[in-house]
Amino acid sequence: MISLAGKAALITGGSRGIGAAAVHMFAQAGADVVFNYFRSKDAAAQVEQEARKHGTRVESLKADLGKMKDAKRLVDFTAERLGKIDILVANAGIWNVEDRPIESLSEKEWDDMVRVNLKSVYAVTHFAAARMIAQKSGKIIAISSTAGQRGEAFHTHYGATKGAIISFVKGLAAELAPHGILVNCVAPGWVDTDMSKPVLATKAGRKSVFATIPLGRVATAEEVAGPILFLASDLATFITGEALNVNGGSVLCG
Ligand code: NAD
Repeated sequence: MISLAGKAALITGGSRGIGAAAVHMFAQAGADVVFNYFRSKDAAAQVEQEARKHGTRVESLKADLGKMKDAKRLVDFTAERLGKIDILVANAGIWNVEDRPIESLSEKEWDDMVRVNLKSVYAVTHFAAARMIAQKSGKIIAISSTAGQRGEAFHTHYGATKGAIISFVKGLAAELAPHGILVNCVAPGWVDTDMSKPVLATKAGRKSVFATIPLGRVATAEEVAGPILFLASDLATFITGEALNVNGGSVLCG
């Protein structure tokens, strides 16, 4: 039932994990897609090649989205290649596997986290929203986290950026509603990707994580990409300012 035929989507951090799953699903649903990668050109080329099998246009660009000039370059590239931007998925992000107690959390670590996880969302949204306002339509979907809803001890900088994304989305939803632009976020719990691999690769890590999730397991990247696709689709035309929980029941908040 879900079709994105004729839609142009920009997905950040599409070279792996949740972003790559979203690139595949969006292409399968008929969308043309541009995504950025940060380091691995090979991984991006592989995602491109696979997603193109669905017959739509799929292209990637290297960009560090914590930099305004790269965010602008990516948005301009998308508009130039696809002719417009109907959907922005602000997914790119980082997380530290090591515990970072507040007394040793450095200014650089704090700044890097805020730059990559929060400023990047502002930066791509800033440039993409201007185009959506001009075309009087659009969908913006950012990726938050359960860490943004309940905090994350020893990863307070990560939790702070993800919490800020939720309030950013709520404010922006009201601000952009008159322009026909819907703004939401998805808040995943644990997802089986390269980001969480260092924890989930060990038996002890898996056991302690699974114990916190009523469904008794973590999500696949596709199980997060599906709800992103739903929000991007015409099945979700009256939802805005929402944080959609995709967490197996681990954080039960409305
Ligand atoms: P991942 O590490 O597999 O992928 C992250 C992506 O972000 C990569 O494509 C990478 O190239 C890109 N990226 C990193 N730094 C960048 C930068 N400076 N500029 C541009 N792109 C950059 O992670 P994932 O698990 O797929 O996570 C995707 C999103 O979901 C993140 O925002 C993450 O915080 C969030 N999330 C993940 C989990 C989880 O358990 N994996 C849980 C909750 C939320």
